[in-house]
Amino acid sequence: MNWKTGVIACAIFVWCIPGNIATATAVKRVPTDKKVVALTFDDGPSAKFTPIILETLRENHARATFFVIGSRVERLPEVLTEELREHDEIANHSFKHQIMTSLSEQRIYSELSSTQQAIQEATGSEQPLMFRPPRGRINKRILQVAEDHHYKVVMWSIDSGDWANPGVHQIVKTVLSQVKSGDIILFHDQGGSRRQTVTALKQIIPVLRRRGYEFVTVSDLIST
Ligand SMILES: [Zn+2]
Repeated sequence: MNWKTGVIACAIFVWCIPGNIATATAVKRVPTDKKVVALTFDDGPSAKFTPIILETLRENHARATFFVIGSRVERLPEVLTEELREHDEIANHSFKHQIMTSLSEQRIYSELSSTQQAIQEATGSEQPLMFRPPRGRINKRILQVAEDHHYKVVMWSIDSGDWANPGVHQIVKTVLSQVKSGDIILFHDQGGSRRQTVTALKQIIPVLRRRGYEFVTVSDLIST
């Protein structure tokens, strides 16, 4: 192995370690015989789109999990109260939504704890149990800090792709062509216009209901 090959091999090795650890310890889906799936929404709360999504869920008797950004929670605490009223789950998605893989343990903890504090101040009680790192970027240090503070790290098994606004038809097709029991499905309720997300949900949820699926929170999915 010459020095060039060595450098490339080393780079691949270092790059691969976090991914391997992430798939070993983060929850991506929950294998189950029950026809249940977990709808998850990242990056909120949004004053405009979260209430519309909550209404869509309510109309379809579906529950979901909202991975919220702490700095947004401070500005829109009333949206979290509405989420809890609908019996949805609130989870931690960091305070500033920055990539966390280069952060120290102390700064990772700060992102987690300041968001937890914002959630508790907004709701009066809610203690989030789940954490999803921004953009799903993870490494061993993030997993360890989350575990040390009793968080379960939750990723997803289906990315609806709604963040790119690819068109309602594409979002619907992406989800319905892949879905199976125990899936955790990624959507967003904030980050630009979420009109396509809302319209797609109005199609996806009734179809999955007709296929026999129930919509549960991530916590409920893990405990099935
Ligand atoms: Zn995000």
